Amino acid sequence: MTARPIRRNAQTPDRNGKIFYTSTTSLSHISKRTGELDGISVDLLRLISDKTGLAFELVPVDSPEELYSLAEQGGIDLAAGIPYDYDLARERHLSMTRPYISSQYLLMMKEGSSEETIKGKRLALTTASPYRGETVGQVVRYTKVADCIRAVESGEADYTYVDAYMAQYFINQPQFRDLKLIPQTYEPRRLCYGVVKPAPQELLSILNKAIMTLSSAEIQGVINQNTIQKQPFSFRAVLMANPVESVAAIVVVSLAVIAVLLLSLRRRVRASREAALELKKHFRVYALVNEYFFEYSYRNNTMFVSDPSKDGGEPDLLRYDYSVRPESAREAQRRKAFLEVVRSREDGVHELYIECIDGMSHWLRIALETVYDGDEPAYALGRINVIDEERQEKDQLMERAQLDSLTHVFNSEACQTHVRASLSRMREGERGALLLIDIDYFKQINDTYGHMQGDEALGQIAALLRSSFRADDIVGRPGGDEFLVYLPRIKNREFLYNKCAALCSRARSLPLAEGGRITISVGAALSRAGDNYAALYQAADEALYDAKKAGRDQFAVAEREERA
Ligand code: GH3
Ligand code: MG
Repeated sequence: MTARPIRRNAQTPDRNGKIFYTSTTSLSHISKRTGELDGISVDLLRLISDKTGLAFELVPVDSPEELYSLAEQGGIDLAAGIPYDYDLARERHLSMTRPYISSQYLLMMKEGSSEETIKGKRLALTTASPYRGETVGQVVRYTKVADCIRAVESGEADYTYVDAYMAQYFINQPQFRDLKLIPQTYEPRRLCYGVVKPAPQELLSILNKAIMTLSSAEIQGVINQNTIQKQPFSFRAVLMANPVESVAAIVVVSLAVIAVLLLSLRRRVRASREAALELKKHFRVYALVNEYFFEYSYRNNTMFVSDPSKDGGEPDLLRYDYSVRPESAREAQRRKAFLEVVRSREDGVHELYIECIDGMSHWLRIALETVYDGDEPAYALGRINVIDEERQEKDQLMERAQLDSLTHVFNSEACQTHVRASLSRMREGERGALLLIDIDYFKQINDTYGHMQGDEALGQIAALLRSSFRADDIVGRPGGDEFLVYLPRIKNREFLYNKCAALCSRARSLPLAEGGRITISVGAALSRAGDNYAALYQAADEALYDAKKAGRDQFAVAEREERA
């Protein structure tokens, strides 16, 4: 068992007249917490020191042997924590104080073994152990009690005997948790201080009185302090102390984490499935109304165009899944034109004439709506209609509005508009010609054959003019029996003369109803870049007047001054 030495420096009074003592212990340990020597005997000595004013110098020793040898050599004055055993004290030349604690002997062995199996097993004991019980097997000696306990824990020995305090101290540490304790019937172990002989009577009596005055609460406090170890929290310690529970806890936590992950994954899958369903629903609704619906995501740069139902719906002209790379440069061009409108952020209706997947160009009406996330556009949504027919009708209407209802050539206003536009496009050096054609004595035709025949004659002249000139020449009827032709490009004057002569000649041979004959007079003027319509018209009109005055059924070309 363990003893604790205390060195007394009795001959050296300190400045306050007190006596200095020195103490050390083998069992006492250097506290990790304070870096000082700890232990029940040491802490009680500190209490005694407080009560009596005695001061001790602590001298640590490694084993009971070292303690007793120090005592013999006079290296210490007081031994702490020695067994209250007269024989041992006499042998070691120590005078015992009264005992200050007593504790029961416990048998310590590894969890899982039983005392019956101790027979023939190894007992770990300290070399200085005063234990005199009958040993039932081999005894393995260690210098310290702590080494005996470690030997049992590691399996080097099968069991040992310790006092209750010592046992408690170790059991509180995680690595010793699987050691079990069995109370023994032996006399409780009592501990006292041993004063090295010759013991000063005065010191013995001070120590005894002090021990007597120690209250059980004070002693209990010291015991608690030395047996209840506060382990810093560490997963490793908890794991070592409770391996099964720890593994179970880790499994439970892992399962919980997996469950939460699965749950959130399921939720996300469900949410994306619902979103996809929602989109599908939208697309079906649009399909039902036979329209295209598109959704463009600014974030992902993806575009989806719904498929209208086939029966009587929109023609299958658009199928833009922008997640697929365009197959050709033409396809890329198509997408670009379409995307320009979709990404324009100009909400409202756009009309676009683009080539579609059938390789033909079509008119599309795009109703665009941009959805913003704060200031940033997030989506462009909309509806697309193919409006080829509507557009055609509109174009026809517009064309019709420009035509003279009787002869189907341009009316007066359209003549002006188109001739002005053509003049504005003329380049320097180019020559054009304006021809004004008037039927000779038309009043007489009306009077002779009737107004209806007059109308027919007007139609015949219009047809003659259209067939005599190119498609991009402008043919119109400014009013009455007067027609207009504008040739944007002519080679020279000769060409104009020939055209006018041919025109007069062809008019003469027009077969009028009831064998009637018709002649026309033509006034022409050459145009050039920078001409204005009114001046050109006036020049042609003057030439027409000249042709009439010269006897009709002929043409005259205005002699216009060439500008510098
Ligand atoms: P001139 O040789 O000098 O041209 O003699 P003209 O009789 O043709 O005289 P002018 O050109 O002045 O007369 C045009 C006539 O054309 C007047 C009008 O009765 C007739 N006219 C005008 N518009 C129409 C029309 O839409 N239908 C018919 N049938 N006659 C029209
Ligand atoms: Mg006339």
